[in-house]
Amino acid sequence: MHEPETVAEAVSLLGQHGADASLYAGGTELLLAMKEGLLRYGHLVNLKTVPGLDRLDYDTSAGELHIGPAVTHRTLELSPEVAARFPLISDAESKVANVRVRNVGTLCGNLCFAEPHSDPAAFLLLYDSRVEVQGAGGSRTIPLDQLVLGPYETCLEEGEMLTSVSVPQFGPEMKAAYQKFGYHQRPTLGLGVAVRLENGSVAEARIAVGSVGPKPVRVPEAEELFLGKTVGDILGPASGPRLSVLDEAGRMAAQAAEPMDDLHGAADYKEHLVRIFLGRVFAEAVGAAPAAQRSAA
Ligand SMILES: Cc1cc2nc3c(=O)[nH]c(=O)nc-3n(C[C@H](O)[C@H](O)[C@H](O)COP(=O)(O)OP(=O)(O)OC[C@H]3O[C@@H](n4cnc5c(N)ncnc54)[C@H](O)[C@@H]3O)c2cc1C
Repeated sequence: MHEPETVAEAVSLLGQHGADASLYAGGTELLLAMKEGLLRYGHLVNLKTVPGLDRLDYDTSAGELHIGPAVTHRTLELSPEVAARFPLISDAESKVANVRVRNVGTLCGNLCFAEPHSDPAAFLLLYDSRVEVQGAGGSRTIPLDQLVLGPYETCLEEGEMLTSVSVPQFGPEMKAAYQKFGYHQRPTLGLGVAVRLENGSVAEARIAVGSVGPKPVRVPEAEELFLGKTVGDILGPASGPRLSVLDEAGRMAAQAAEPMDDLHGAADYKEHLVRIFLGRVFAEAVGAAPAAQRSAA
């Protein structure tokens, strides 16, 4: 176990030991996988000994949250600043795992492990977030939608360390919600919607789907379909032989997310979940009752 005191020292240790070394943050994924014998490393580089990496800063001039690599889920859940400016993050973080995991598990460790059933990579896509990375050759910035390549795979190169996640705040008119669903410890589905209404119609829409497929995705074609529609157009029934807006957007979202058969369920079941949750989450975001409740009322 190495205990570096600077990021440069941590990166140098990773370079020195190559594939035999791994960064160690909260250890909630890493140590479980090592105990199971799925991963083996001769050297662990503990990033928590580098002062300042647990900083959670809000940059007022840029309107951005900066999350350091040792910031835990619990810190994000309990931060008054995050609750005031990023209520969706505060709420979603309070539902990650259980309090023991949230106390030690970091948001950056979660992103870097790229376990497909996870929440932060999905809800952070709604914010057009980006990550800062440091390697032997210097630093680079990666848009979050390019970080995760697939299950347990990111675009980080050997020896690179994620040093910060930057999250731009929504504009004041943006309304957003994120919901997760599942019956195992990790989510079967995570779905987020952010919308801005102008004169009763959708002027901007963001839709992110995670956990059902190999990686979380934004769904630009479904976002575009929402544009110019009223809340009633989106949540209402189909008119004539055409699919309703929600059915069509749900179909697009499910297709983009590429649902996989796994222990959480079959791909067609997850496709169905995406359609149902798209309606529920949109309704929560805009403060409308879901269609089933409206027709029952
Ligand atoms: C019981 C249980 C339930 C869970 N439920 C959920 C859930 O509901 N939702 C959810 O999203 N997640 C869930 N998780 C996953 C949990 O969120 C993650 O385990 C945690 O956030 C990972 O962070 P960590 O600091 O423990 O990472 P570690 O285990 O320390 O590291 C994980 C991996 O990331 C690498 N790494 C860590 N930090 C960096 C960095 N800065 N730069 C580059 N690489 C890095 C490590 O080398 C390692 O390969 C659950 C986990 C458990 C055990």
